[in-house]
Amino acid sequence: MSEFREPSIESMEDSQPEDRVLRPQRLEEMIGQQDVHERLAIAIDAARKRSEPLGHILLDGPPGLGKTTFATCIPRELGTSLQIASGAALGAPKDLLPYLTNAGESSVLFIDEIHRLPIAVEEFLYPAMEDFRIDIILGDGMSARTINMPLQPFTLVGATTRAGLLSAPLRDRFVVREHLDYYSVSELAKIVFRSAGKLDMPMDDETATEIAGRSRGTPRLANNRLRWVRDYSTSRANRLVDLEIARTALEMQGIDELGLDGFDRRYLETLQRVFGGGPAGIEAIAHTMSTAVDTLEDDVEPFLLRYELIVRTPRGRRLTERGEAHLGDAPPSGPQQKLF
Ligand code: ADP
Repeated sequence: MSEFREPSIESMEDSQPEDRVLRPQRLEEMIGQQDVHERLAIAIDAARKRSEPLGHILLDGPPGLGKTTFATCIPRELGTSLQIASGAALGAPKDLLPYLTNAGESSVLFIDEIHRLPIAVEEFLYPAMEDFRIDIILGDGMSARTINMPLQPFTLVGATTRAGLLSAPLRDRFVVREHLDYYSVSELAKIVFRSAGKLDMPMDDETATEIAGRSRGTPRLANNRLRWVRDYSTSRANRLVDLEIARTALEMQGIDELGLDGFDRRYLETLQRVFGGGPAGIEAIAHTMSTAVDTLEDDVEPFLLRYELIVRTPRGRRLTERGEAHLGDAPPSGPQQKLF
């Protein structure tokens, strides 16, 4: 068994200390996702009133929309502990074992990127989720035998950017399944406004709305763009952030009015220029852009699809009229790498 290190909330915080300051600590601090918020609050309240463990929860949606934030708020609401693991790091059942045996009664185990669990780990998880029990096989061949080990009843919260990659048996074991969608500009403006307050940055509504409108419906991007505007204003403007500073700072990073950065636009340009608007296969596009298919599928395409700049057809991706029009309006693609 690999050496066990107790996972903690701290261990999953984003690399910058400010991320911890900006991340909501309680459900009531979270802005937007009203329906998801309400359903989770009801499930949590019912579990608390009945003194039962909360059913397993699956959260899916594009990166940066609040899956981890929901997952870290839930145990705080329940008054229980949290362990955090990543699907990518759980290569074998023995990697998952310490998390399961360490899970206290009604505690929460959060597995990020749960679609990346190998099948052997997934199968090991089934009885743990269903009967709070694990089956350990000792020996092999004819002399192999299975011993059952009981676990404390716990709640698994899984997060994924690719719900479609989850196997049906795993998906079916989640009692609550919630999809997080992109935020509206007014919701993001509230997040920007609140984050600016936490960073001691006076800000008017117009400027918060400008930053929000250029954040691709994503709180993580809104916070990152806000920090860039703050850096720009400190270094170049030497005055409080206003609408003009926000616009200049974001344009300097090649972020357009829809919130696309240079890399997003290069995807659209590649589709238009190299593939005549498509349809084109994702591998061919990724190859032409010298990037990974996963980067395009996780970070670039969901927003372009949601805003109908591209469509997916059986024969590949195709630029829409709206996508063409956006390229016509937009500045040249600028930075070749994803900015955040
Ligand atoms: P995901 O796990 O979906 O990739 P996170 O939960 O890590 O996304 O969210 C990224 C950041 O965005 C958080 O650090 C937090 O500051 C902010 N954030 C996400 N959702 C919300 C929300 N509903 N209200 C306020 N801030 C949010």
